[in-house]
Amino acid sequence: MELQFWGVRGSIPVPGSETLKIGGNTTCVSIQHNGYTLVFDAGSGIRNLGKHLEANSHASSGGCIFLSHYHWDHIQGLPFFTPAFRAENRFHLFGERKKGVDLHAILAEQMQTPYFPVPMDAQEGLVTFNEIRPGETLDIHAGMTIHSIRLNHPSGAVGFRIECADGSVCIITDHEHSDDGIDAPIVEFAKNADILIHEAPYEPEETRGPRKGWGHSSWEEAALTAKAANVKTLFLSHHDHERSDDEIFQRLDKARQVFEATEIATETTSRTLTRAV
Ligand SMILES: [Zn+2]
Ligand SMILES: [Zn+2]
Repeated sequence: MELQFWGVRGSIPVPGSETLKIGGNTTCVSIQHNGYTLVFDAGSGIRNLGKHLEANSHASSGGCIFLSHYHWDHIQGLPFFTPAFRAENRFHLFGERKKGVDLHAILAEQMQTPYFPVPMDAQEGLVTFNEIRPGETLDIHAGMTIHSIRLNHPSGAVGFRIECADGSVCIITDHEHSDDGIDAPIVEFAKNADILIHEAPYEPEETRGPRKGWGHSSWEEAALTAKAANVKTLFLSHHDHERSDDEIFQRLDKARQVFEATEIATETTSRTLTRAV
């Protein structure tokens, strides 16, 4: 199982000299297992994933694209995901219905005129659009299971846990924990995962004060969740677009005092999971 980050910022892409180490693209993570690709969120980082897939697949490619929700930082890269424009490719999309509107209609809207010159119909490699209900479990591909959970975020989001023989990866973005501390259902969902990817755009005092109700977590809440869930490795991600690389890396020592096996997710971060069976 190969995990690769392609975009690790929240809200808006932030290219520039202060974001070169972590990268400025918005949220996208891929997991590859036995030649099959799972993608989690289609922020601007999915553009580079598309280039990677085109460079490394000799014939057609395909897989599943899971969308946590439809804020722009999670879907804005899809119109630039070049494998989607090839009819020989087969990508299956998964996302929630919102206010009676289905996944296909929601995604097609951002490519309608006058917002974009090419309609989503041209993306012939996007072959099915599947509704996901938080809490359900899907058997996607041989030996791969996806669990889902409701996240607390404006208009709602979905968290995912991927299980296969090589290990488990849990992705929690975007989510605000309750006032009482970290949320027990999230801890339970992430229990004993090999990798927890948890969003962490804010400082602890921000989630208690000016950013309360914005639907996000602090690095401290992410670390406390990782500790309580007994995961092996925590990646902080969905970094605040207003903070430089240096400011984000300054959090690492503090987060490691709460949970030692903490890392900062960057656009060049990857991990290989293997487990003898
Ligand atoms: Zn977001
Ligand atoms: Zn969001």
